[in-house]
Amino acid sequence: MRLTGYAAIAAALALLTLHPFAQSRPLVAPAAAATYQRLLPQIERIKVFDHHAHPAFPDDPDVDAAPPPPGKAPLRFRDDNPEPIAAARALFGFPFADLKGAHAKWLIDKKAALKKEKPGPQYFNYILDRVGIETSAANRVAMADYLDPARFKWVFFVDSFMFPFDNSALASRNGDEAVYMPLQTKMLQRYEQQLGVTGLPRGFDEYLAFISRSLEDNKKRGGIAAKFEASYFRSLAFDDPPRQAAASLYEKYRAGGVPTMDEYKTFQDVIFRHIITEAGRLHLPVHIHSSSGGGEYFSVRGVNVLNLENVLHDPRYLQTTFVLIHGGYPFDREAGLLAAMKNVYLDSSAVELLLYPTEFKDMLRRWLEMYPEKITFGTDAFPFGDALGVEEVYWLGVHSSRTALAAALAEMIAAHEITEAGALQFAHMYLHDTAAGLYK
Ligand SMILES: [Zn+2]
Repeated sequence: MRLTGYAAIAAALALLTLHPFAQSRPLVAPAAAATYQRLLPQIERIKVFDHHAHPAFPDDPDVDAAPPPPGKAPLRFRDDNPEPIAAARALFGFPFADLKGAHAKWLIDKKAALKKEKPGPQYFNYILDRVGIETSAANRVAMADYLDPARFKWVFFVDSFMFPFDNSALASRNGDEAVYMPLQTKMLQRYEQQLGVTGLPRGFDEYLAFISRSLEDNKKRGGIAAKFEASYFRSLAFDDPPRQAAASLYEKYRAGGVPTMDEYKTFQDVIFRHIITEAGRLHLPVHIHSSSGGGEYFSVRGVNVLNLENVLHDPRYLQTTFVLIHGGYPFDREAGLLAAMKNVYLDSSAVELLLYPTEFKDMLRRWLEMYPEKITFGTDAFPFGDALGVEEVYWLGVHSSRTALAAALAEMIAAHEITEAGALQFAHMYLHDTAAGLYK
């Protein structure tokens, strides 16, 4: 339906007064502006593979094994930021400029009505269709019956295997860990129940076998990848202690007692290496949270991807595929170079939400100029709250990434680095093909 000229201008003006800056956009070099306009609609038609997300209704406790405790939100994540609100307008026709009181209730009611209209897995399939996502990873403690396994692929958490002992010393380090560590204990108990095991196995060899069987069982239940959130609990510097050291510690602490920090690290380092070896055998890519993270005490030094260099460059793990989730940000240049290894991939999820599109465009361009066949798209969609949910974050992540990608490619074309045909090929690889190829 076409509006007449005046009506269209009036409608546009009304929207502008209501939301003067609905969505931020990348600043494109003037020489690339026309190419950007031409590329964007073509990029918008590409169906997306979302390599990292946490799809869930807001009341679903299985959404994450380490839900972030409240910390200071960066500008783009704050409650009064207009961008998620504009996402709600795009998806649900949300007519207000803020989420206060009755306005939030309007959005909650709207989603509830839609959920009734589209029962079971239909609701989130509909959301994916609206946003342009073909397949989404589902980082969750367990899968939900309201997620269609044909569209949502389970990525399961494996950190808890590194924390089988009394975690009280770890939990007392700070307020974040006080939230995280009991959840790790719970997660491990859940894996025990899943295999019908009561308590920790007697010997260290049996414990390693229990881990392997859990990975196998999760794969049978539809799991496509194993996820480490380790940087929320410890540094990503994994040493290579002798297996016997971990076996002795298992004997010492299996039935009780609190290990020292050094002892526990030795044990974790051995378990980490067992898991990545087994994941290679089982063709389960290993996802590693590799960017700064939520909470108040997150260690940016500890998450530096260069901590992982000894592991990623170790020929013993060539059979294992590694995906650096969130692309190592703010060490995204270092991560970009680590992707030279044939079994190392990058995922850009969350970075397109944390950064505004101009800065994200520059990061994408640097990656595209190095190993364009190794970079993959993701949103890190997560239920923010009762009103703003996974739906809006999916929309915002896809929208931000498409505009930044079109801008990065347009600038590369303007700089005579690539052709327009080559640019579209890169776009397909980044948004869909490279990640989809890992799970064939
Ligand atoms: Zn995540």
